[in-house]
Amino acid sequence: MKNITLSFDNGPDPEVTPQVLDILATHGIKATFFVVGDKLRDPARYELSRRAKVEGHWIGNHTFNHLVPLGLSRHRAASAFEIGRTQELLGDLAGDRKLFRPFGGGGHINNALLDGEAVEQLREGRFTCVLWNVVPRDWEIPGEWPDEAMRLCAKEDWPLVVLHDLTTGAMDQLESFIIEAKASSMNFMQEFPEDCLPIIDGEVRGSISHIVSASAPKHAREEPHV
Ligand SMILES: [Zn+2]
Repeated sequence: MKNITLSFDNGPDPEVTPQVLDILATHGIKATFFVVGDKLRDPARYELSRRAKVEGHWIGNHTFNHLVPLGLSRHRAASAFEIGRTQELLGDLAGDRKLFRPFGGGGHINNALLDGEAVEQLREGRFTCVLWNVVPRDWEIPGEWPDEAMRLCAKEDWPLVVLHDLTTGAMDQLESFIIEAKASSMNFMQEFPEDCLPIIDGEVRGSISHIVSASAPKHAREEPHV
């Protein structure tokens, strides 16, 4: 028996998020939804995240614009906005633990994920930063991702899988993946494996230099006084 944790990024989506919630409820699985702040401004989408929370899922912050990995942002204070504005929009959808997942630009774990500002924001706000260890690229291979996920899960002691509640058609395969994983003696957990959490409640655990960009000059600096 080994643990497996599911996470759903980039929603909420009016078509797909309800489908995912129904499947998770059928199978008694609790997961985490890392939502895009800009989408929460739509009341109908916000209600979907509320439904997810009411049904026992955790709702995390997945940046506001979800356009550029924070470590590549060229704008000063971009990270503060991306994280802070989304957290404001989440309001009480966020639980006791404030969960944040950086935009990975295709699921890559590298030093584009965060910048120094983002780390400060996560420390001061006492966030828990949630990475991942299985990205079956459901958005690229919507019909075949369960096979890829099973292959990748076999390599991890405790897989933390990134999926997307988006209209790619990939979530039509979610139920068959769950059935296959259960048949392979995997135990669905809501908690995350600790080695996917480089920051817990604002505390940086070990070195995080591999996920933080070197400080680069950013635009919109204050002009020097003349
Ligand atoms: Zn994403």
